[in-house]
Order: sequence, then structure tokens, then C-alpha cells
Amino acid sequence: MTVTLQSAPNSASGDQVNAPSSNTSDRKAEFEINKLSKRLHRQVGQAITDYKMIDAGDKVMVCLSGGKDSFALLDILLGLKLRAPVPFDIVAVNLDQKQPGFPAEVLPDYLRSRGVPFHIETRDTYSTVKRLIPEGKTMCSLCSRLRRGILYRVAGELGATKIALGHHRDDFLGTIFLNMFFGGKLKGMPPKLVSDDGRHTVIRPLAYVAETDLERWADHRQFPIIPCSLCGSQENLQRVLIKQMLREWDQKYPGRIDNMHRAFANVVPSHLLDRQLFAFETLLPTGQPDADGDHAFDEDESACAPATGSAEPITINPVQLAWLGKDAGPALG
Ligand code: SF4
Repeated sequence: MTVTLQSAPNSASGDQVNAPSSNTSDRKAEFEINKLSKRLHRQVGQAITDYKMIDAGDKVMVCLSGGKDSFALLDILLGLKLRAPVPFDIVAVNLDQKQPGFPAEVLPDYLRSRGVPFHIETRDTYSTVKRLIPEGKTMCSLCSRLRRGILYRVAGELGATKIALGHHRDDFLGTIFLNMFFGGKLKGMPPKLVSDDGRHTVIRPLAYVAETDLERWADHRQFPIIPCSLCGSQENLQRVLIKQMLREWDQKYPGRIDNMHRAFANVVPSHLLDRQLFAFETLLPTGQPDADGDHAFDEDESACAPATGSAEPITINPVQLAWLGKDAGPALG
């Protein structure tokens, strides 16, 4: 195993933009990128805070596949590391699965240029998957399982205390719909979980981030993206269709996706049908008035309200403020 340790240069913040340009459209583009940068860093800081993803002294292993999402995750975490209220380390890990044509030098070159400690694990899972999965069938499920096992082992060997994955808001919503449509379950992707071997904490700091923002950020930062099609496998067709559906909704009804996403952090078990979540069978009148207790005959006004931001007041403590960069200058705003 080769773990290369190097120090990160200041440019790691990822929220710097080019020098002001003289013409108006350049200035507008610059302004938009600055806004995007602030939003990305703020949303990741918020998710880290909300789910207590990173603690002081953590060694966060960022799984870098070479796709836009994991590049953006690493980039944003490097930026936040410089101003986080707690010290933590980052190590990037890539699993070289020996897919034909995989450009093995691209990631090491990039990581060296960013001064990020990294480890490349080489395991020929490609041949194993090819051997076991019949031609024409999707290989992703077995491939992911093999990859997961290897990454957990590597995390242990590197002494990583957290494993960070690059799944984003739209992965979460896509999974919710897949599970509803085909599994009869309301189940998305946990922002934080314990690995099935019980030994690792897995985190998804991009849980609040829209995929379109990651695409724009990847474009702006010019990440050397490695195409995911090298293995020749197709993305799950149903997942592709659901993604299209969500994108169409987002274009036709701006705000709908944000509201839907917010709904999953704002669940009312007594108004759903799950008897495990709410004890309907033991529900009895208490004899005591409860101003919040009975909505049986009320119209649900929020069902007709236009899609806007949450009306709930948000309380932010000083630690959250630090993660959100409120005292870290204008770049995180
Ligand atoms: S696209 Fe290829 S590399 Fe990615 S999970 Fe599927 S089989 Fe594995």
C-alpha cells in the first residue's frame, strides 16, 4: 500500500474565482460562480452540522471515483477544512478496478497537484464481475458490493474514522422513488450510517446538493473527469427515467424538488400509515386539551401554497455558524 502524504496548498478552498474581468458578461458569470460556490459550501456545511458528520480529529476518507460528484465532494471538503470549527484530516482513496482503458495516472496527478494525501487501491473487480454476470445484464449491483467491501477494508488499514461518499440530493430522491415505485417502501439514502460490517461510519456530505449545481461546479473547476462508461455497463434504466422525471418537474415547477427534499426531513408519523412509527392501536383520548393535537377536519393549507422556502424559523448555534462560514469572510456567505 502506498499512502502519499502531502500538504494542501491554499488554493484548495475551491471558492476562489478568477480576477475581475472588464466586460459585463464575464462579471455576471463570475458573480454566478461565486454564488454557486457559496451555496455549495453552505449546503455541505449545513449537512455536516445537521447530521454531525465530522468530529474533531476525524480522518475522513473521501472515495474518489473520478466522476463529477466525488471530485466536487473532495474539492468542497478541502475548502471547508480550512475554516471548519474542528480539525480533521482528509485522505482521498480511489479503487482502480482495472476497467479497460482506465487512465491510471489521471487521479494521482490531480491529487498531487492539489496536495491531497491519497491512496490508490488496485483490485481487478472488473474481471470478476464480467465472469459472474451474464452478458447484457447490468453489472452495477455486484460491482458496487465488491467495491464497498474493498473500501471498508482500506478504510480500516488507513485508520480512517469516516468514509465520505459523493451521493447528492437527486440520488436521494431518485432512490426514494425507485423504492416507492418498485419496492413499496419509503426509503432513500441515509446521510449517515454505520457500515454493514459494523465498523465504519459512512457519511454523505452532498446530501443537500443539487446535481445540476455539481455539474456546473465540475465544469467551472475543470475536474479531469473519468467517464463511468469504461466498464460497458448501463445505468439502471428505471433510475435514468426517474432522473428525467425529476429534472422535468424542476424545470416546469421550480421549487418542487427542494420542497420534496425538505419534506423528508419533516416527517409527521401520525399522518402516515406506518404502525411501527406511530402507535395507532394504543391511541386513546387523554381528556386533556391539546392545541396541536387535532387536525382531523382542517384543510392542509400547505398543500396549495406556492413552492417557497421553509416558513420555520431556523436557529443556528455558534458551531453551526462556523461550519457555515458565517465568520469566514464573504466567500462562504
Ligand atoms: S457503471 Fe461500471 S464501474 Fe460503475 S458500478 Fe456499474 S459496473 Fe461498476
